[in-house]
Amino acid sequence: MAAVLRARGLAKEFRGFRAVDDVDLDVPEGGVHALVGPNGAGKTTLFNLLTGFLRPTAGRVTFGEHELSGRPPERIARLGVARSFQITSLFAQLTAREHVELALQGGTGLGWRFWRSDKRLGRFGDRARDLLAQVRLADLADTRAGALSYGHKRALELALALALDPKVLLLDEPTAGMGAEDVDATVELIGRVRDGRTVVLVEHNMNVVASLADKVTVLQSGRVLAEGPYAEIRRDPRVVAAYLGD
Ligand code: ADP
Repeated sequence: MAAVLRARGLAKEFRGFRAVDDVDLDVPEGGVHALVGPNGAGKTTLFNLLTGFLRPTAGRVTFGEHELSGRPPERIARLGVARSFQITSLFAQLTAREHVELALQGGTGLGWRFWRSDKRLGRFGDRARDLLAQVRLADLADTRAGALSYGHKRALELALALALDPKVLLLDEPTAGMGAEDVDATVELIGRVRDGRTVVLVEHNMNVVASLADKVTVLQSGRVLAEGPYAEIRRDPRVVAAYLGD
């Protein structure tokens, strides 16, 4: 499978400490690629480098023929590489539908702080309804984000990322903090929205990785320790040893 997102020699230093160290990554087009590894392995840092939230100390990230390294997150998202929003960026007082309408309008991150009630948002009505239905929030469209359950908030984050209709969707620990029921619902949801896209996810829960990932990259101490299908990775003695040390 051709790689749609690539990193070459990617590194990030924090005051001399290499959190990500000379990483090459090939994300296959149309697949689900999981980034795993023990705590502190550099998964979040790598994720932030891929999405432009951090600038690399060295190396590059490309998406097709586009150079992504050095570009701001909004630009990267507009090119087609979008990450799910964090719950902290939801507004307690806005409804699920208003959030999706904002995202459809192109509102991202800080831009949202300047949002004013805008009657024109209604023009996104059908698209907003579709997106909310996709993440199973149709019945909660008019509920304020502050009143949504944890699982529903995470589903709303996913709808916001999908509003950008990304080619590559990056999900940072989509099942973190969830009970078994929400984990199952999230796996089912990701399985559905991956259609026609490439998904990259950072995930701790190995059952989730086993059910979703076509390719797994294991990081340890900022470097790629092993890579391949889950069935191979889980038997790799280096991977087993890395996790036992966690
Ligand atoms: P993971 O997501 O795999 O748990 P992280 O990418 O969060 O790992 O962190 C990798 C390493 O980099 C850790 O040792 C962490 O303490 C360090 N680190 C991450 N972000 C920063 C930062 N902003 N400043 C200093 N050190 C950081």
